[in-house]
Amino acid sequence: MKKIAVFPGSFDPFTIGHEAIIRRAMSLFDEIIVAVGSNALKKNFYSLETRMEMINKVFEDEPRVRVDYYEGLTVDFCKKNGAGYLLRGLRTSADFEFERAIGQVNRSMAPEIETVFLLTVPEHSFINSTIVRDIIRSRGDASKFVPSAINLKDYKGIKD
Ligand code: ADP
Repeated sequence: MKKIAVFPGSFDPFTIGHEAIIRRAMSLFDEIIVAVGSNALKKNFYSLETRMEMINKVFEDEPRVRVDYYEGLTVDFCKKNGAGYLLRGLRTSADFEFERAIGQVNRSMAPEIETVFLLTVPEHSFINSTIVRDIIRSRGDASKFVPSAINLKDYKGIKD
């Protein structure tokens, strides 16, 4: 059976931290679906379309990575796509506490789906989308925190 993993997140924007987790996970899974959460209540900086376009650019030569979006429960999205694994990255102990709660709730809702955590490499442990977003909003240069395939000048934030 094909090993399919879902990597869910806001990716607002997608960073080199996210990219590294996916590239490392490619040796574990046959296919990875990057699932962009489209929570209408969440105030995003980049639109759903822009976030998906950025991620597609990063993996345009990688047929085993697919970009999609979802609303509602992550486990429902996994089931709909035949994914048996949820992939998450861990940076800090704060991440761990947060992920533990989500992972255990997901497990109680869908025990057949296994959550797999990859520890970030130390040089990415301080990178998070909130900080990258703040740099962009303040007109700073955030290019070293996003994958080289993403040229931030090509994209506009919703309230830019
Ligand atoms: P969320 O909205 O769920 O916080 P994010 O877009 O921030 O989503 O992150 C999605 C996943 O990527 C999470 O598992 C998060 O821990 C992981 N992640 C984010 N930044 C990094 C990083 N710098 N290194 C490793 N994993 C990361």
